[in-house]
Amino acid sequence: MSHRFDDERAWEILSESGAYMKGHFLLTTGRHSDQFFLLARLTERPDLLRPWAEALAARLKPYGVRTVVGPAVGGIIPAYAVASFAAGTRVLFAEKSESGGMAFKRGFRIEPGEAVAIVEDAVTTGSSVAKVVHAVKAAGGTVRVVGALVDRSQGPLRFEEPLEALLRVENIPNWDSQECPLCREGVPLTKPKS
Ligand SMILES: [Zn+2]
Repeated sequence: MSHRFDDERAWEILSESGAYMKGHFLLTTGRHSDQFFLLARLTERPDLLRPWAEALAARLKPYGVRTVVGPAVGGIIPAYAVASFAAGTRVLFAEKSESGGMAFKRGFRIEPGEAVAIVEDAVTTGSSVAKVVHAVKAAGGTVRVVGALVDRSQGPLRFEEPLEALLRVENIPNWDSQECPLCREGVPLTKPKS
């Protein structure tokens, strides 16, 4: 039935799908790195995403949530995939509001006291998640847990709810362009998101 899913398998899938790349990359911060994550390469592959979703659903099960919420855009597919392994759960998404927060649109409703899990592709600072936590609370719901495929945080997160992440990624180097060793070697720079 279900196959092993551990850190080793997670890295294999990330590499195989192209969601984890090695090279010379321009980050959105303007800094350079020799590694890059593009989790859309993973979530575009239902077959490869399935073991992650199943493993994350198992991790979230003890929290007894009724609803899974994905922050748009990156969280929509992972939230859906996780919810598909949790019988009876609903799956919603929250999206950017005019005020700069996150809001439920499209007629999505959270009932008072409804137990919610937020599921993201990757968590770095947790700012999107924090905005969704706010939207859930404003609707009267309770966020029991935050699930993520990858935890890339480097400091305290901007939400207080427990985080269940399948893979912890640390120590990915990045440099100012002036100090980048790959620039010095003349390796062509790529912008992987464009
Ligand atoms: Zn460089």
